[in-house]
Amino acid sequence: MPDKVKNIRSFSLEELIVEMEKLGEKKFRAKQVYEWLWKKHAATFNEMSNLSKPLREKLSQNYSIEQVKILDSQKSSDGTVKYAFELSTGQMVEGVLIPTPKRITACISSQAGCSLDCKFCGTGFLDLKRNLYHYEIYDQVQHINKEAEKTYGRPLTNIVYMGMGEPLLNYKNVLSSIDKITSEDGMAMSPKRITLSTAGVAKMIKKLADDNVKFEFALSLHAANDETRSKIMPINDSNNLEKLTEALEYFYEKTKTRITYEYCIFKDVNDSIQHAQELVEFSRIIPSKVNVIEYNQVELADFVNTTRKRMDAFIHHLEKNGVIVNVRRSRGKDVDGACGQLALKNW
Ligand code: SF4
Repeated sequence: MPDKVKNIRSFSLEELIVEMEKLGEKKFRAKQVYEWLWKKHAATFNEMSNLSKPLREKLSQNYSIEQVKILDSQKSSDGTVKYAFELSTGQMVEGVLIPTPKRITACISSQAGCSLDCKFCGTGFLDLKRNLYHYEIYDQVQHINKEAEKTYGRPLTNIVYMGMGEPLLNYKNVLSSIDKITSEDGMAMSPKRITLSTAGVAKMIKKLADDNVKFEFALSLHAANDETRSKIMPINDSNNLEKLTEALEYFYEKTKTRITYEYCIFKDVNDSIQHAQELVEFSRIIPSKVNVIEYNQVELADFVNTTRKRMDAFIHHLEKNGVIVNVRRSRGKDVDGACGQLALKNW
């Protein structure tokens, strides 16, 4: 047995061909193994039933299959399920399965913890432990997809990168995970069913544009004036609305993709008609729509959800001024699985 077994999922198909040749195997074996690892999501070499037993043994002597495991789950009364995933290095992240009549959505994590300290977010109170590898992000999707089929008899229709972490601060792994999810070698999902959401890293928004990405893109805006936004999201001090505006214009010019602004509505913080008017103006910069999100209080945060009356007035003002608005009612609240609540509680 070699001193150190290699993580077989860190190889591209081309690299795997080289590895197979080193083992004295034919090239086409690499394609078979690759299919087991990604498309069929095998957790052991033993499952690879079209490979001979000696080859399976050779593989397990030389390589490991690092895979994220489901440690536990909690089901909400509205059908939302929150999962605790264990990484092979011991840290935990969370993912959420959100069923609705039309869609089944997986909300997945891109980092263990987060460095951005958004003041309303449970994850923001955890330290950043590390970036997830591309296969660890992919595993969450595969696991939640299997769970969706098991629990609801339907596969995933949508994936949102809105769980723990800031996806654009783990750019390379996030984009490779999307490559795998959309590739024929992986889950063959349309990129239009994937939404990446950022707290607003202007430089990386421009990079997305340069890479001409095809998935949907959302910005967690939460306020369209710098003073309020900085109170909610400290990242606004370094990536203010002027910088974001410039990045968004660049993004739209290159991708022609309509952007979604996420707007969590907090009582007496960002819920006035003046705030709504600022949002109307901001939303005119490039073609966009706005998701107004009901806030779910988290223990350490100072924010609370606004009243139904103020929320209705806010939404009415947006609609009256031509903004396309969707209202996101809270899901999975009772298991702390709703937006901003992923904080590794109660496992
Ligand atoms: S909202 Fe997102 S970026 Fe902000 S602290 Fe939470 S996980 Fe990090």
